[in-house]
Amino acid sequence: MAKYGMIVDIKKCIGCNACTIACKVEHNTPNEMHYTQVLEYEEGEFPNSKRTFLPALCNHCENPPCVPVCPTKASYTREDGIVLIDHDRCIGCGACILACPYDQRARVEDDRTVFHDGKTVFVNNANAAPPKGVAAKCDFCYHRVDHGDVPACVETCPTTARIFGEWDGAEKPLRELAAKYEAKGLLPEKGTEPNVLYIE
Ligand code: SF4
Ligand code: SF4
Repeated sequence: MAKYGMIVDIKKCIGCNACTIACKVEHNTPNEMHYTQVLEYEEGEFPNSKRTFLPALCNHCENPPCVPVCPTKASYTREDGIVLIDHDRCIGCGACILACPYDQRARVEDDRTVFHDGKTVFVNNANAAPPKGVAAKCDFCYHRVDHGDVPACVETCPTTARIFGEWDGAEKPLRELAAKYEAKGLLPEKGTEPNVLYIE
C-alpha cells in the first residue's frame, strides 16, 4: 500500500497564499476556516532583516495524538497514512483539537461557505463542506489523490514549493528527496512522526 507525504521547500515559498485560496475553493471551507495557512516570521532588524514563509497544514502524523483521543472513532488513519475525520461520527467534543500539537484542527463555528450549496465545484463535488459543530482539518485532498491527482495546494503553487507523493514510489520517491535535502518535520520532540517534512 502506498504511503503518502508532502515535502515543503521553505526557500521556494514566496508567501503568495495561492495554496491557501486553492484549498479554500477546493474544500469550500467554512468562514474563517483554512485547512492550510502560510505563517510568516521576521528575523533581524532592517536593513538586515529577513522574512520566512512557512506553509502549515495537518501533518498526517504517523503517530497522531488526535486519533486515539477521539471517543467516537471519527478521527482515523487510512492505510495510506492520510488522517481523516468522519464528519458523520464527529460529536464536536474538541478532544482532538486539544490533542493536536500543531494547532491544525478547529471546530466549525460558522458554516457559511464560499459556494452556498455546501459543495465544491471541483472533482465530482466529492468534498462537501463540514457542517457546524464538527472538527475539521486538511485531508490531503484524498478525493483528488484517489483519482491519481495531487492536492489542490500542490497543483496551484507557482514555485513548486510543495511536493506531494509516495514515500517509496517507483518514480521520484519522497524518501530520497527528504534524505538528499535533510527535510525535517515540525516539533520532533512531540514524537508524532509527521508525514509533512520541510526543507530549510
Ligand atoms: Fe492529528 Fe494534528 Fe498530526 Fe494532523 S497534525 S495528524 S490533526 S496531530
Ligand atoms: Fe508558498 Fe506555494 Fe503557498 Fe504560494 S502557493 S504561499 S509559494 S507554498
